[in-house]
Amino acid sequence: MVHLNLGGEPLEAWHAGREAEPAGVGAAEIKAVLFDKDGTMSHSEPMLEALATARVFHCLEALDHQAQRQRRDVLEDLLRRAYGLTPAGIHPASITAVASRGHNLIATATAFAMVGLGWPEALAISEDVFARTDALHGQGSQHRPQATDGLADLLERFSAAGLRCAVISNDHEEGIRDFLAIHGFQRHFQAIWSAEHQPCKPHPDAVHGVCRELGIAAGHCALIGDANSDLRMARAAGVPVVLGYRAGWRQPPPLEPDVPQLHHWSELTVSLSHPEPGVSMGTISSDADAIGSAPVSGCSQA
Ligand SMILES: [Mg+2]
Repeated sequence: MVHLNLGGEPLEAWHAGREAEPAGVGAAEIKAVLFDKDGTMSHSEPMLEALATARVFHCLEALDHQAQRQRRDVLEDLLRRAYGLTPAGIHPASITAVASRGHNLIATATAFAMVGLGWPEALAISEDVFARTDALHGQGSQHRPQATDGLADLLERFSAAGLRCAVISNDHEEGIRDFLAIHGFQRHFQAIWSAEHQPCKPHPDAVHGVCRELGIAAGHCALIGDANSDLRMARAAGVPVVLGYRAGWRQPPPLEPDVPQLHHWSELTVSLSHPEPGVSMGTISSDADAIGSAPVSGCSQA
């Protein structure tokens, strides 16, 4: 059986709300790990900051150039606050950091409505601005997201222990596959749950969906994310080990205090209590069923 340890201590199953199973019953048996991508596997902040800044610029350009200076200033302030664009970087719990493209689009149109535009016009301008700036998102952007420090080593250790891995993200499938391919991570992953899958995060059934693709019950999974929406989703789905990752942003994300938190991937280790006879380490998660270029069986990031 595989267990995860944080700082050398075994991670026990989270049992809040299950009165028949009090906390502290023992280390949870883990067969698969579900990873959020942006801000967890990847340093997405420079790319998202460039994207949000460009959207603000194009929104202001789209306002009638005769618009009163005051109206443009109000729109810029609304957009910056809505997007979580601060002098210290992107707020890690902002709509830009955690929400889908669709949610960001509605937030943008709402800002236009708040400076006096009718909804049809507000939505049309927002759709145009997003179409103009979509190329700034993802691996094709100037600010290609880097993997978080120590992730490659962690994935090697997980694969060696026979753990299956999946990405559960509101980025498009293409963006997830590009990220995995560029960093050479595909062979460690057996499933992807993307913006094209329904329901998408943070619906708990997104967890059940990716678990079906992995062939592992949610009760034998761990989930690691950098947003409370990820962590709450995992607990609602019955995932016993839920971990917050805090090192993916310039400002550490504000996470639920009762969730174990990671500051570097090296803090997370694997132990085997009862290796199954006849199964050699490192061969359980073979490349044969790792995700490749073939499509996996639609909301999107930012
Ligand atoms: Mg994230």
